[in-house]
Amino acid sequence: PMAAMPILQAKKLTVRFDGFPAVRDVDLAIADGELRVIIGANGAGKSTLLDLLCGKILPSEGEIWLRERNITGIGEAAIARSGLGRKFQTPTVFKEMTVLENLQVASNRRVRVFENLFDWLPSRPSDKEAAVAERTGLLGAINRRASELSHGQLQWLELAMVLSQDPKIVLLDEPAAGMTAAETDKTAELLLDLAGSHTVLVIEHDMAFVRLICRTITVMHQGAVLAEGTAAEIEHNPAVIEAYLGS
Ligand code: ADP
Ligand code: MG
Repeated sequence: PMAAMPILQAKKLTVRFDGFPAVRDVDLAIADGELRVIIGANGAGKSTLLDLLCGKILPSEGEIWLRERNITGIGEAAIARSGLGRKFQTPTVFKEMTVLENLQVASNRRVRVFENLFDWLPSRPSDKEAAVAERTGLLGAINRRASELSHGQLQWLELAMVLSQDPKIVLLDEPAAGMTAAETDKTAELLLDLAGSHTVLVIEHDMAFVRLICRTITVMHQGAVLAEGTAAEIEHNPAVIEAYLGS
């Protein structure tokens, strides 16, 4: 639907670090249910843009809107409670805990610090935990310690932890980084499946991966949006070739 209001919007978003604009004048409109890919060279401002959107850092100028609500400056926790979940590039799971226990921490069914006092908590997954584990390919590993998981499984566990918090929008920073080819393919499948139920914004710089999930792409360059379009449009855009793809 053409006139549908975007679920997430950046309006003239700028942030400066010691005067240097890491993100400059970025306008972005993500439709409800969209799977959007952000690409760009190292240092283009992609991660900083996600930091701004999830409220981890404050913009120097501009606004962030969640549907009809201006969420600029309301804080990271309030933004998360409003339905925006963020997966970081480096997994931040609890290595000594099992997959299920990590999911329970994420959904507040288990308090990590007092985990021994909470042993009466069910050790069997709830329907929801089982569904999240299934969706991220971790059901067979649900009682395994995170320290025993592969790099790919760790990334999926962190995504599963984000999903346990019931976000409507999921922000992912290079979800396939460091993965094997097989894990990368699986991650692409996982994102396509996720896009059936969530709005997804994903940073990726591997064009092969981007082609696998092939949706609308936003190209960032030196903090700004350089182009937006399909993979085919992006790959034939002279400015994009010159700034990014040509090297
Ligand atoms: P990308 O994710 O596209 O590789 P980043 O968003 O990480 O790029 O970085 C964009 C630019 O902002 C880089 O030049 C980086 O060095 C700079 N930058 C990022 N975070 C900070 C920070 N906290 N303080 C100072 N400079 C930063
Ligand atoms: Mg980055």
